[in-house]
Amino acid sequence: MENQPKTTVRRHRRIIMFPFPFQGHINPMFQLANLLYSEGFSITILHTNFNAPKVSNYSHFTFKSILDDCPENERYSKASWADFAQNFIYKQDDAFWHFTQKVADSLNLPRLVLRTSSLYCTIVYSSIPLLDDRGYFTLDESHLEEQVVELPLLKVKDVIGIKSIKDPYAELICDMVKETKASSGIIWNSFKELEETELKRVSDDFLVPHFLIPFPKYFTASSSSLLEQDRTIFPWLDQQLPKSVVYVSFGSLSQVEEKEFLEIAHGLVYSKQPFLWVVRHGFVKSSTWHESLPEGFPGERGRVVEWAPQQDVLANEATGVFWIHSGWNSTLESICEGVPMICSSFWGDQPLDARYMSEVSRVGVYLENGLQREEIASAIRRLMVDEEGKEIRERARVLKRKADVSVTKGGSSNESVKTLIDYISSL
Ligand code: UDP
Repeated sequence: MENQPKTTVRRHRRIIMFPFPFQGHINPMFQLANLLYSEGFSITILHTNFNAPKVSNYSHFTFKSILDDCPENERYSKASWADFAQNFIYKQDDAFWHFTQKVADSLNLPRLVLRTSSLYCTIVYSSIPLLDDRGYFTLDESHLEEQVVELPLLKVKDVIGIKSIKDPYAELICDMVKETKASSGIIWNSFKELEETELKRVSDDFLVPHFLIPFPKYFTASSSSLLEQDRTIFPWLDQQLPKSVVYVSFGSLSQVEEKEFLEIAHGLVYSKQPFLWVVRHGFVKSSTWHESLPEGFPGERGRVVEWAPQQDVLANEATGVFWIHSGWNSTLESICEGVPMICSSFWGDQPLDARYMSEVSRVGVYLENGLQREEIASAIRRLMVDEEGKEIRERARVLKRKADVSVTKGGSSNESVKTLIDYISSL
């Protein structure tokens, strides 16, 4: 999977990259950095000391810590950015660092945005002022199951996480959308065949070049993992029957109450399938969760780890289903390995991605009514054992195949990489 870097005349061109400091943003940014490096560019990574990347894994990049090191009143200041950035020809960052557009403009640097969510999510985010205007964010609980007329795929409960357009999260999203529109182009961790209709819509709304590249098909995210990945599970995984294991992981930020945690544990036991469950430190809000686990849990049928080498687990023959929190990186990693999903969702873009995977791509089932043991066990069995799951599994296989073809010569993703490289070189 890992490409050998090309030695080309372009190496003197330097790209500054600035990931938003969370695992779900750091991973795709480093995958993109590796891809650009392999195409001959020099890479400088700006990073905060909070969640700083593992510099030792990337001797080929230059690192510069920023923001946290500045005196308090200079944080985010234009001057400190300007000092650093003026020696560079081009910069690229994560969409949530929307204020960097102004810095780039003042330095006459082109800015490309890496959007770490789906195109579909960005279309929804771009519609927030409209949804606010139509009063969706003030609806009470009796409307949760109703359809959003302006975005018919969605139910009110999928967008209600935003309480008002004045909510700081909504403001951040609106600023992000505005400055993404002002950028010189958008790089998406996706591929054309996955979101073809959305590509048309997003191109009408964001009048800049778009580059769709499924990063997991080019580079693994393992080397940018902030937590140690537990590889001791592979001997156990290798002993399981093909496509028999439920891999359960809810990403780097989601949290559950102890009650929900127990529902998950019981649901896994009830399903009678082998499982590998990532229980990250801090995943359960209560500290006494160990005490309330079912007797003998996880037993021979299950393994619990604090953090897994996720892409390798998904690529393992034994993995049959990914029970996912519907974070976009994890979703794309699952698609790229052809693993069907049981979709849960917690916040942000997750309800949107869960809806899309279950109703448009139809490679998953959405556990949209929370975490209840019987429903969990029945979703697992529906997807893994029952006839009904066959079609979903087959669609996941076909979608993986489309992703595979897209990165081959002449494929849409392969073309996107080439166009991106030419575009950057022309800036
Ligand atoms: N991940 C991992 N090990 C785990 C769980 C997750 O390496 O045990 C990685 C996963 O491969 C993905 C990232 O963490 O690249 C999570 O990003 P995502 O967008 O799915 O969710 P977030 O953490 O942002 O909610």
